This record gives sequence, structure tokens and C-alpha cells, in this order.
Amino acid sequence: MPNYLPEPFRIKVVEPIHMITLEERRRILEKAGYNVFNIPSDKIYIDLLTDSGTGAMSDRQWAGLNLGDESYAHCRNWFHFEKAIRELTGLKYIIPTHQGRAAENLLFSTVAKDGMIIPNNNHFDTTRANIIANGGVPLDLVIDEGKDPSLEYPFKGNVNITKLENVIKEYGKENIPVMMLTITNNSGGGQPVSIKNIKDVKEVVSRYGIPLFFDACRFAENAYFIKIREEGHGNTSVKEIVKEMFSYADGCTMSAKKDGLANIGGFIALNNDSLAERIKERLILIEGFLTYGGMAGRDLEAVARGLEEVMDEDYLAYRISQVKFLGDLLEEAGVPILKPTGGHAVYIDARKFMEHIPQSQFPGQSLVVSIYLQAGIRTVEIGSLMFAHKDPRSGEIVYPDLDLVRLALPRRVYTSAHLRYVADSIIKSYNNRKNLRGMKIVEHGESNLRHFIARLYFVD
Ligand SMILES: *Cc1c(COP(=O)(O)O)cnc(C)c1O
Repeated sequence: MPNYLPEPFRIKVVEPIHMITLEERRRILEKAGYNVFNIPSDKIYIDLLTDSGTGAMSDRQWAGLNLGDESYAHCRNWFHFEKAIRELTGLKYIIPTHQGRAAENLLFSTVAKDGMIIPNNNHFDTTRANIIANGGVPLDLVIDEGKDPSLEYPFKGNVNITKLENVIKEYGKENIPVMMLTITNNSGGGQPVSIKNIKDVKEVVSRYGIPLFFDACRFAENAYFIKIREEGHGNTSVKEIVKEMFSYADGCTMSAKKDGLANIGGFIALNNDSLAERIKERLILIEGFLTYGGMAGRDLEAVARGLEEVMDEDYLAYRISQVKFLGDLLEEAGVPILKPTGGHAVYIDARKFMEHIPQSQFPGQSLVVSIYLQAGIRTVEIGSLMFAHKDPRSGEIVYPDLDLVRLALPRRVYTSAHLRYVADSIIKSYNNRKNLRGMKIVEHGESNLRHFIARLYFVD
């Protein structure tokens, strides 16, 4: 029996969910072009598409919404928002955006010029797309351990420091405007980065005068992993660890829809004066005034309160154990998952799940489709559909290291009974895996963010 921690909250508001028939699910999939992003949410029984903006807010956050000050400029919630983020990050300029990708757009449209290199452990899909859209080249430098799904290793989000040095020498520091570090590493399985690695990355890039920016969406989950996995940190509070993490950052982008525990929101924060000036000008052009950046006053308040709540260690212990609980149920039944389980999701190794489907036929998407059809559960492919792309130089298709299906857990939303149902359903698919078929894209295959809009069908 896997261990679990009871939810450190009780439920005060409920939202009914219900299951539609198999026939209806079949019809809906066809209409959706076998892309689960196209399925209306009331046709979903359990929605594990993403942990982004899908969390339940606390009573304190809901109370905060009523204190929203909807003045255009310098509303009271802005000051709470700014203070919360300044205390968290210690960074000088706090610039609000409506979500994470807008922060990325602001950063890369300001610093990335044609052919410039942006290294990271692994770029998230919107980060990669924003870099490419601005003429930059995203590079993934995660350690080799991070690419082996079955290897147990505590910090699979770490950067390969030797590779990083070599990249800087090869391309020249003048062609690397910023080093990104995604904590936790979403595309690599929600895996944490150790304090030691953050320090080492900082040491290398600062030797060359390259600023270090965190993609900080899950900073609290990362800090909790440091607390429980990294030697010497067991007795340090998450708050202290977060402080130390950010002491190595020259800036960060963040989607508050993750560890901000809010349904919308984000920011970019940084120390550099001239860069901040340029970003602020662009903010007004594309997002809004400097003190709201695309958010309502009430949203700013929800984020300010969420950023404080997320560092509660009872919450984080429950959060990380909930993900592990689902992972353990699957693993006990032999389902190949990425190990160890990460911070916000369980990732199924789709290529191992069905070895008869080649990468070119999107094994992950085939599994996503099957899980919805069988159980009404929405998951997402993080693999070839999302990341395979034509190399601009060679013209060849480059496939990602992993083909995963992500079961992302919305924060404070589903109970362990829901998770048992999810595990049972996927185990059923696993026992029936020989019948799964490969897929092909029939529409929108060329977009950099094609997984959001592509339409697919089964191969013959
Ligand atoms: C969600 C996410 C983003 C983008 O944030 P949005 O709010 O969805 O625009 C960027 N990086 C990582 C690691 C994320 O998980």
C-alpha cells in the first residue's frame, strides 16, 4: 500500500463532475481531431491536462478577491503583489504580466537577437517557442541522468556544467544574452534542481557576465525537494531555501498559475536597470500599465496571497506525497513511469508503455487518446507531438529524448479516491496496450506550438 498524507485542508465549496457514456466520448474525440485540447471541459470526468491555473484557491484568497481595488494605476493590491514578490525573490524590479508566457515574450523580445543562444536545463514549450519566434536558438543542457526515465536520481533537473562551459566557449558569451534555469524542470518530468547545481550554474555564467534567470513557476515545490533530498538542508525552512535559491538569480519569469496558487497571473522580475526600462516600455505596449500588466486588481491580490500560502510546509508535504501516491499505484502495477515522481505530475514513459509504436507515430498521443476514451480522463502528451521539429540546418526531424504522457495534478483539487480511479483506469489501458495504434497529424503540423491545435488520426 503506497503511503499518503491526508489533505491539510477541508472542503468548503464543491463542483460536481460527471461521466458521459463511452459512445459520447468516442464521438467527441472524433470531433476534437483526437486532440484533447479541443474537448469541452464538461465532457471530461477528471482533468489532468495541466496544473496551470487549475488549482483551488483558499478561503483567504477568495476573501482577497473581494478586496480587489480596480483602479487603473497603483491600486492597493499592486503594492501587496510587489511586496510578496520582492520578499520572495529579493529582485529589484517586479513587472506584472497576465501569465508566464507574456513574461517570456517580454524577456526574449528584448534580449534575443537573430541566432543568439539561450541555454536551459530543458526549455518549456512556451519558452522555446518565444525564443524561436524572436530569432533565438533554445538549447537544452540537462544532465544525462535527467534523460533516463527509469533512473532514480534526486535532482534530475540539474544542468550539465561541463556542457554549459563548452556551449559558452563555442558560441561566445556575447551570443548568450541570458541563461535560463527551469525550476522544477517541467519538460524533464517536474524534476528539481539542487542548490549546489544552481550555485555551480551561477558561478559559471557569472564568470562570463551572463545573467541567470529562473523560470520559477514551481519554485516552492523545488525548494521542498531540496529540503527533503539535498544533504544539509533537512532542517532549513522552505522559506530560507527559497531565499537562498533566489539569491543566485539575476531575474526570473514566472507563471503564477502554478506555485502562485492562482487561476491567472505572472510576472518577470530582475535587477538590471536598463533591461527593466526596456521591458517596462514593452509591457505597456502589449500587456498594460506597470502596476497591473494584464491582471485585474483582484488577481494581483490572489497571487500575493497564494505566493505566501504555497510555502506552507504541510501543504508542500501533502502536495509532493500526493504525486508520489499516484506514481506508486501505477508503478506497483508495472506501468513504466518517470522516476522518481516529480513535483506536479506523474509522467508515463509512453515509448516503453507501447514499444510497438515508433516515435514518428506519436505513442504518447495514442495513449492520451486511449485514456480519455476508456476513462474520461484528460492528460497531455509531452513528447514528439509537442517537441519533434525540423532542424533548420540539416532539414532532418529531431525527436525529443523522451515521449511522455503527463498526469498533472491541479493543486488542492482531487482527493486520493480520484487518484485511485485514475490509476485503475490507466492500469486497464496498460493491460490492453497491444491494441493501441499509432497516430499521424492531418492538420497544423508545421506550427511551433502545434500540439495545441493539431488534428490527428490513427495510422492505417
Ligand atoms: C506554465 C509554464 C510556463 C508558461 O506559463 P503560462 O502561464 O502558461 O503562460 C513557462 N514555463 C514553465 C516551466 C511552465 O510550467
